[in-house]
Amino acid sequence: MHRADAAARQNAGMATAAAQERCVFCEIVAGRLAASFVYTGDDVVAFLDIRPLTRGHLLVIPRQHADRLERLDPQTAARVFTVAQRLAVALRRSGFCAGTNLFLADGVLAGQEVFHVHLHVIPRTQRDGFGLRAKRRGQPDRAELDATAGQMRTHISPALG
Ligand code: AMP
Repeated sequence: MHRADAAARQNAGMATAAAQERCVFCEIVAGRLAASFVYTGDDVVAFLDIRPLTRGHLLVIPRQHADRLERLDPQTAARVFTVAQRLAVALRRSGFCAGTNLFLADGVLAGQEVFHVHLHVIPRTQRDGFGLRAKRRGQPDRAELDATAGQMRTHISPALG
């Protein structure tokens, strides 16, 4: 399926039921697929990514299936972040790594490949070869930044008040 079609289907929530049936992370949560866990809680679990970007690359996921952020209840979303925060702090304080990157792909066009919300916790060490490559969009002046913020507020305020 074309990426744009997949994105449209996902945005409409159409992929949810079928995707849940074959969801690889639901299989892991159910114990039908192997994973190397570092944390198992009542609502959230964390395990090693099968194709790590760095050594110890973790995925923190809710037990409950939600294909993307908008279908994850805010309380569980907060738990996912809290667990990631604790893992990152523990790994850094124990000396496993010097720092961490947290990353979440929400949506096909954002690079999401597994449609069960997951937060990547990527331990960082010297010369680990990991980096984000992106082209910055110059340095807009304050008027342009304010105009963008204003436009975004009109999109955000119905949701946040
Ligand atoms: P994303 O692009 O954010 O959807 O990333 C999905 C991640 O899930 C990738 O980093 C994959 O390597 C990882 N992944 C896919 N299948 C498994 C699996 N069975 N066990 C652990 N990690 C997996």
